[in-house]
Amino acid sequence: MSVAIVGVAASPGIVIGPVHLLRWEVPEVTPRMVEPEETDAEVARLHAACDQAVERLRTVRDRVEEHAGAEEAAIFDVQISICDDADLRMSVETLIRQGFAAEKAFDLVLLEWREHFARSTNALMRERVSDLLDVQIRVLSLLLGLPDRDPVDLPKGSNAILVTHDLTPSLTVQFDREAIAAIATDAGTGTSHVAILARSLGLPAVVGLRDATARMEAGSTAIIDGTHGLLILEPTPERIAEYRQRARVEQEEARELQRYAGAEAVTLDGVRITLRANVDMPDEAAAGATSGAEGVGLMRTEFLVVGRAAMPDEDEQYEAYSRVLRAFAPHPVVIRTYDIGGDKLPVGGFPHEANPFLGWRAIRMCLDEPELFKVQLRALLRSAMHGDLRIMLPLIVSVDEVRQTRVLLAEAAAELAARGAAHRTDIPLGVMIETPAAVITADALARETSFFSIGTNDLVQYTLAVDRGNIQLVSRFTALHPAVLRLIARTQTDGAAAGIEVSVCGEMASQPLMAFALLGLGIRQLSVAPRSVPAVKHLIRTISVASATAAASEALNADTASAVETLLRERLLAELRRGGKAADGLLALVDAHILPDNADTQ
Ligand code: PEP
Ligand code: MG
Repeated sequence: MSVAIVGVAASPGIVIGPVHLLRWEVPEVTPRMVEPEETDAEVARLHAACDQAVERLRTVRDRVEEHAGAEEAAIFDVQISICDDADLRMSVETLIRQGFAAEKAFDLVLLEWREHFARSTNALMRERVSDLLDVQIRVLSLLLGLPDRDPVDLPKGSNAILVTHDLTPSLTVQFDREAIAAIATDAGTGTSHVAILARSLGLPAVVGLRDATARMEAGSTAIIDGTHGLLILEPTPERIAEYRQRARVEQEEARELQRYAGAEAVTLDGVRITLRANVDMPDEAAAGATSGAEGVGLMRTEFLVVGRAAMPDEDEQYEAYSRVLRAFAPHPVVIRTYDIGGDKLPVGGFPHEANPFLGWRAIRMCLDEPELFKVQLRALLRSAMHGDLRIMLPLIVSVDEVRQTRVLLAEAAAELAARGAAHRTDIPLGVMIETPAAVITADALARETSFFSIGTNDLVQYTLAVDRGNIQLVSRFTALHPAVLRLIARTQTDGAAAGIEVSVCGEMASQPLMAFALLGLGIRQLSVAPRSVPAVKHLIRTISVASATAAASEALNADTASAVETLLRERLLAELRRGGKAADGLLALVDAHILPDNADTQ
C-alpha cells in the first residue's frame, strides 16, 4: 500500500520517478583493533582508500566543472589535497601502528582535525571544516565497503527524486539538474535555503519530511507532490495513474496561467500593481525576464557564494550582475548585498555561533569586513553601466548601517575612479525591512534611503521569535499573525509619508491569500519567484483593491492568525467566485496547502 509522508510544500509540481537516496553523513565506525602482523595490510588499505577517494574526487571535479563552472569545482581540489596530505596520512598510520583498524584510526584523526580547524582564529582554516567532513565521509565509506554515492552519478534524463537529510552547499553544486527532477529533504522549511533554491531552479520540492531518508529504499519509485507537500512511497499502480492525471491537470493550469504573463497587473478597480521577480542566480535571469515581471525586486547575491571554496572576485561579480541588468533592461533590478550567514553560508561556513540568525551575518558581517564588502560594491557600481540598478541592504536594524555603507560606497567609487574604471555613483540605495527595529524606526530610515522592501520571511521570524528553519515550528511561522500585518501596515504608512517605494519580496507575496492581504494593506509592489508571476498577475486582475482593503482592515483588528486566515479566505473566495470560471485555477491555489482527501498519511 502506498504511504504518504507529509512535509512542507517548498516548490510546486508533481514528479513520479526513481528515488535517489543520498545519505551524506559520517558512517558509524565500530572500534576494532588489529594484531601487529596485520598493521602493514591495514596501512596499505588506508592508502588504497585515500587514493581511490582522490580518483573519485577528480571525476566529480571534472563533472562539476563541466556543468557548474571552474569556481564551483575548486572545492574538490581542496578535498583532493586533504586526501593526499602527507601529515594526515602519517597521523592515521601512527594510530594503525598502535593497533587501531584503518577505519577507526582515520575516523579519530579526522575528528581531531575538524575540531582543531573549527577552533582556529584563521577564517580560511575554519572554512576547511566542511571539506574535512566530506573527505571523512568519502574515505570511511570506502574503508567500510559502503556504497559510495554521489549525486552526480546519475545519467542525464534519470528523472530522479533526490532524497537526502539536508541539501548542503557542497551537495548542491554537485547535483546535475538534468538528472534530478525533484528534491525531498528531512530538514528544512518553506523559507530555508534548500526551498528557495528549489523554487529558483523550478524543481518540485518537499522539505521538512523529518525521517524520510530512514524510511526509504534507493531505487524504489516514489511520487513528489510539491504543491501539497507530500512524498508518496511505494505508490500503487492506481496511485501512480491518479498522479499522472493530476500532473497533466497541473501542467494544463500552468499553461492557462501563462496567458497572464504578458497581461497588465491591474486590479478590477483599476489600480496598477508593479510585479517584479526574485532572481537568485544569474543563470535564471533569461527565464525570469520572460515571466512577465517588470524587473527584479530582489536578487539574492549570496547564491554566488554558497557552495564555493572562495568568494567570487570583482570581475566575476561584475559579469553576473551585468548579465541580470541586461536581461531585464530597461526595468529596474534591485540587487541585495551579501546576506551571508544564517542558513546561507559559503563552504566551510563562519565561526560556529549558538544563534546564527541573531549572529554575525548580512550587513553586520559586510561592515566588519570592509575589504570583502567593497569588492561587491565596486562590482555593483560598475555593473550599473548596463541598466537601472538599485542596491539594497539586508537585515538593517539601524540608520548607522546605512550611513556606514554610504561611506564604503564612496570609497569604492573613488577606487574605481582612480583606476579609470567606468561606473555610476547615482545609484538608489534601499533597505530590507525585516526586523521589528527597522519597522519601528522606518520614519528615520526613510529619510536616508530611496526605497523599502519588506522581507517577510525574516520579519515573521524576528517578530514572532520563530526560527524560520525549525520544522517543529512550521505551523507557528505565519505572516498572517496580526502583529506581522500591523508591522507591514506601519512600514507602508511611513514609506508613503516619506514618498518612497515600499515593496514586499518575501515568500508571502507569492501566496494568493497573502498577496490579497498585502494589496489590502496598501502595498503596490510585489516581488515573487518567476514561476509565480503569472498566478499573482491573474490574482491581481481578479480582485479589487476596495475589497482587499476592507478585508485587511478587518484582519488588522483580528485577535489571532487563524482568525485572520479564516476571514481573508472567506473574503478572497467570495471575490474569486464572483470572478466566475476564470478564477477556478486561483481557487485551487488558495486551497493548495490543504491535503487532498484521499492522501494516506502515516
Ligand atoms: C526575507 O527575509 O523575506 C527575504 C526576502 O530574504 P531571505 O529570504 O533571503 O532572507
Ligand atoms: Mg531575509
